[in-house]
Amino acid sequence: MHTTASDGSVTPGECVELAGTLGLAAIGITDHDTMAGVGEAQARGAELGVEVVAGLELTASHGPWVVHLLGYCPEPGDPGLEALLTRVRASRDERNPQILRRLAAVGCPVSADEVAAEAGSHVVGRPHIAAAMVRKGYVRNFQEAFDKFLAAGGAAYVERRRQSAADVIAAILGARAVPVLAHPGALGIHSAEELDRLVRSLVEVGLRGVEAYYHAHTARQVAICRRVAERQGLVVTGGSDFHGAGKPDIQLGRGMGNMHVPYHLLVGLRAARERL
Ligand code: AMP
Ligand code: ZN
Repeated sequence: MHTTASDGSVTPGECVELAGTLGLAAIGITDHDTMAGVGEAQARGAELGVEVVAGLELTASHGPWVVHLLGYCPEPGDPGLEALLTRVRASRDERNPQILRRLAAVGCPVSADEVAAEAGSHVVGRPHIAAAMVRKGYVRNFQEAFDKFLAAGGAAYVERRRQSAADVIAAILGARAVPVLAHPGALGIHSAEELDRLVRSLVEVGLRGVEAYYHAHTARQVAICRRVAERQGLVVTGGSDFHGAGKPDIQLGRGMGNMHVPYHLLVGLRAARERL
């Protein structure tokens, strides 16, 4: 799940409270490009008896693909991973002003302060720019901001300098965290063979797991992800990708349809971590 440390709308502590209310045994905090929310969540988790798994999510390029990679259970403060995160945040600091200049040029000026007010977090990105645009009345909603302006092909789209999957996975492993391919369904892959090929090429650079259970995956996609993971001896994980108000269709704890992510996956993830 994502918290206010990146593009979620719920604070890390409140995420844990929500998980407790829902009766969840465990949650994973995987903010984009930062682990700043993990400490607060773990402290609240210890109070409420909710197991909080530390993690993060990073976007990387891999040949023609843009993949999202999860890193589970990193050693806190690993210098190699911190250095990578600093580089990633620098690429955002480069890109955000360019997006704002383009928005101004098409008659939708938004200031850096207005964006920062939406973010209030370590990682400022397009979702915060979208929120500022909604607030200023340029668009009716978040999705319209992306469709017209911020998504690839939009009037204010700017490409971000991306890390390679090989570098991201190396940094994750360097912090003794488990690297997992997030929500493969989002890649538009529909066959086990195609996913198998992509995953194999990521395993060559150190990938250890595949996220099979995911709120937007169909039963067939879950089955494909599980089959590919099993073939290649990888760990299977799951997540809701909960973001709070920004993505109101996502419910906390749901790994497919109305199903929760099964707890035994976390046992397997912890075991994989021990083997690193
Ligand atoms: P950024 O990291 O600044 O490039 O923003 C990426 C985030 O923007 C993703 O995690 C999504 O939450 C959101 N996003 C990206 N593309 C779209 C889109 N086409 N529609 C809605 N939200 C999007
Ligand atoms: Zn993602």
